[in-house]
Amino acid sequence: MLNIVLFGPPGAGKGTQATRLVEKYQLVHLSTGDIFRANIKGETELGKLAKQYIDKGELVPDEVTIGMLESEVQKTEHSKGFIFDGFPRTTFQAEALEKFLAKMQTEITVMLALDVNDDELVKRILLRSKDSGRADDADESIIRNRIEVYNKHTAVVADFYEAKNKFKKIDGMGSIDEISERLYKAIEA
Ligand code: AMP
Repeated sequence: MLNIVLFGPPGAGKGTQATRLVEKYQLVHLSTGDIFRANIKGETELGKLAKQYIDKGELVPDEVTIGMLESEVQKTEHSKGFIFDGFPRTTFQAEALEKFLAKMQTEITVMLALDVNDDELVKRILLRSKDSGRADDADESIIRNRIEVYNKHTAVVADFYEAKNKFKKIDGMGSIDEISERLYKAIEA
């Protein structure tokens, strides 16, 4: 299996690039943010809970997020692999992911980390807010908080994969096509 963690701060282009990787390598795309948003739209209990955190740009608690992701992985049969987008966001989530992939006799192949500077992130998210309909995209102070949460709790997850020699940093500046090409090269290296 080819199991990719697509990593990077909010606005780095994970969702856009994940769509391309899914097509090229026939992978199953699991975005915890998308799953939460679908639950919010469907007004499920999980959605109601997640919304309280998402609206502030805070992380949804690990137990909730991990349980949800594990059940999504188990729902999928016979996939060539997964793209995890927006997960893991804490070291605890990374450890949990490793354990349940091990139960399925598989593991993360590589973490691809999109590198984009903070000003560009804010610019991209505000631009995206025009179409995304996401309240957490439209307010600069929430965006800044999401970036701060990323720097404080999520950036360290890279060390977890670095220690296993699975970390690859990808320049996330430039055109969508240029960035895709860099990702393909890293996957095929
Ligand atoms: P995203 O679509 O990845 O930008 O995620 C949007 C929001 O969903 C985040 O700001 C968090 O509030 C929540 N979220 C998504 N993924 C996770 C995760 N792995 N752990 C905790 N919260 C998450």
